[in-house]
Amino acid sequence: MLLDRYGSEALKTRYLDGLTTTDMTRLTQGAQFMTEKEGGSDVGRLTTRAVPEGDHWRLYGDKWFCSNADADIAMLLARPDGAPDGTRGVGLFLMPRRLDDGSPNHYRIIRLKEKLGTRSMASGEIRFDGAIAYHVGRIDRGFVQMAEMVNWSRLSNGVKSTALMRRSMHDAMTVAHGRIVFGRRIADHPLSRRQLLKLMLPLEQALSLCLVTADALERAEQQGSQEAAALVRILTPVLKYRSTRDARKMCGDALEMRGGIGYVEEFANARLLRDAHLGSIWEGTGNIVALDALGRAVRRHGAEAALADDLHARISAAAVVPQAYRERLKRLVDQAIGFARSVAENDAAEADARRATSALYHVASAVSLAWEAAQVHDRRGDARRLLLSRLVLDHRLAVGGPFAPMAGATEDRIAGLLLSGRPVSIAEAAEIATA
Ligand SMILES: Cc1cc2nc3c(=O)[nH]c(=O)nc-3n(C[C@H](O)[C@H](O)[C@H](O)COP(=O)(O)OP(=O)(O)OC[C@H]3O[C@@H](n4cnc5c(N)ncnc54)[C@H](O)[C@@H]3O)c2cc1C
Repeated sequence: MLLDRYGSEALKTRYLDGLTTTDMTRLTQGAQFMTEKEGGSDVGRLTTRAVPEGDHWRLYGDKWFCSNADADIAMLLARPDGAPDGTRGVGLFLMPRRLDDGSPNHYRIIRLKEKLGTRSMASGEIRFDGAIAYHVGRIDRGFVQMAEMVNWSRLSNGVKSTALMRRSMHDAMTVAHGRIVFGRRIADHPLSRRQLLKLMLPLEQALSLCLVTADALERAEQQGSQEAAALVRILTPVLKYRSTRDARKMCGDALEMRGGIGYVEEFANARLLRDAHLGSIWEGTGNIVALDALGRAVRRHGAEAALADDLHARISAAAVVPQAYRERLKRLVDQAIGFARSVAENDAAEADARRATSALYHVASAVSLAWEAAQVHDRRGDARRLLLSRLVLDHRLAVGGPFAPMAGATEDRIAGLLLSGRPVSIAEAAEIATA
């Protein structure tokens, strides 16, 4: 994406086909190296030097966390000699693994990381000893250009977290419906039913917002829609922040639902749990991404206005959803947007950035699930996603104390319907949503 958008014609001719082909015999793999010991979140502190030499540059220094370390091509950040400190002085470079004559480029993988998860992909520490690289785009805009790619990767983190949760859910449901304990299927015990709902909810929230964000990205890229671009700007960090956090907990709880066998490496669960923990670290830790959502997307770009417009439009479009429920959603949208604005505009409220980002996520997913219920109802008469929307309100946005009962007749009806997998009519879903 970076090469396509910012690379010179010469670089594109040389490398783009290999990076984008679906022919596995010609495919060349890519990587991105930003993090250094001095700064992962604080990238502006990086110290790798770039020195011009003829039509290329030479790199000197160390990168500390390089995934896909043996990739054919790496896009990386380095500071040209004499450039200012901070992110403004950083340039974007393409570094091939091999030089034109086939010899290895001048860098070494010093050490591979012993990691908690993602063990099938090597991450290493790399030292540049005059490695040859080519600059990409404007030399003083390297960080800004790389940040565009990072935003796409953050969306992919949302997709990955959703996929990890989906597989975990599948395994938990299989066991809960197949195994008999104390004379009944696991899924028939009240406490298990509630726990299965709590597994299902973050998964479906994440799936819903992945699709809303991806759709906005497509409209922004294909049709040049400014509103869609603003929507992507805010939804991407909101999705990355919350879905990666939820995946860590959900994959662990789904493992537990299988009992002891979930802990055994012969099955996927242990790996899913380990891999889930990475999502909230790379491409920006939870704090950094929440600060991006509030401090940049809201405060600097005012992107929350596009989100508010989009959510209100979805509520209006979901005409089959009862008016009372839609009014409730509208109020929650306005409250979440107001909270996000107040946190973004007030330096003293920075410590609330994570809560405000979560509030945006939960409200946006409650709306998108209700909107999807209307869409799916129109196509095939199934409004079960409205029940998930209602669960978001009860589990994620309700203000209850530690002694307030949450389980009850309404939730048990929802559990029965959602765990059965059968379609739910709009009449039944509407009655439950407004109960
Ligand atoms: C498996 C794996 C693969 C990776 N692959 C790559 C890769 O391919 N390329 C690459 O460039 N990097 C990669 N990374 C590095 C990753 O992007 C960084 O580790 C991450 O950005 C955090 O940077 P850091 O480790 O320097 O932590 P720090 O930036 O030191 O953060 C430490 C803690 O401080 C918090 N913090 C930092 N700033 C603030 C703030 N302003 N306010 C509040 N809290 C703050 C963070 O949230 C975090 O909790 C990888 C990491 C892992 C674990």
